[in-house]
Amino acid sequence: MNRDGRSRTRTYAAGALALLAFATACGDNGDGGGAAPKTAAAASQPSGGGAAPTAAATTPGAAPAAGDAAAWAKWNLKPLAPAPAPPADKPIKLERTGTVPVISDVKTSDKVVFITLDDGAEKDPKFVEMLTDLKVPITMFLTKDIVKNDYGYFKPLQALGNHIQNHTVTHPVMSKLPADKQKAEICDDQAALTQQYGTAPLLFRPPFGDGANTPMLNTSVQQCGPRAIVLWRESMQIHDMQYQAADKKLKPGDIILAHFRGPKELKGATMTQMFADLLARIQEQGFSVARLDDYIQAPAS
Ligand SMILES: [Zn+2]
Repeated sequence: MNRDGRSRTRTYAAGALALLAFATACGDNGDGGGAAPKTAAAASQPSGGGAAPTAAATTPGAAPAAGDAAAWAKWNLKPLAPAPAPPADKPIKLERTGTVPVISDVKTSDKVVFITLDDGAEKDPKFVEMLTDLKVPITMFLTKDIVKNDYGYFKPLQALGNHIQNHTVTHPVMSKLPADKQKAEICDDQAALTQQYGTAPLLFRPPFGDGANTPMLNTSVQQCGPRAIVLWRESMQIHDMQYQAADKKLKPGDIILAHFRGPKELKGATMTQMFADLLARIQEQGFSVARLDDYIQAPAS
């Protein structure tokens, strides 16, 4: 691991988080089974039929400024506290060669978390509108075979400053593959994403987090270009997160896994409803959302 940097101890606002007692995760991955969908997502889509609810408050055709309360109100959300200035001394420093670190969180005392969105299956134009309005930073881990039917969908998201990272070609269980197939999965996704989006992924996430700590996968990643393996601390379901921590609370620097998913995977909820609920869960614990890249120092070229 290469994440020394500062030796600050984490400070948590323990009392403020007791609020979250209700927050048991849905316990499913949106893949069938389980209870009926919960109702009353924190936000509903502003489309619905007819004009957007706060159309009068925004200039038609122009996205509201980030932090603009009207932009948040359009999505039935309260503005998230802005993230603090990025640290000058990046907590994670990547090297150009050698073993790549496996990262599930970032060492920081800033009350921030990082949102990652995986796979790329759901390509909901409303989500592009939402992120254009809200300017919440995300990191996308895209799987070639899932996004190749519409690479263009992700370009406006990228244009907002969000980086696109490697998540294999076919989304396999990597530890079941021999080294040459692992390498093909990573290198071919790397090549496709680099060609499509004009920049080479710096980060890799193995599907299901599988094999992340094996020397074989580490070597395969090294051979294809990414310089870190990124896992997560929380996993967004439909309305709530599953937490690895027993106390079911966000910690400063946590990386959150979510997916490009739609009503079929979310028991009828939309991508924007899921994302609004995710933001509400983050907000009620007193966190803001920062850009992962702002906490990672790329290797010197
Ligand atoms: Zn995935």
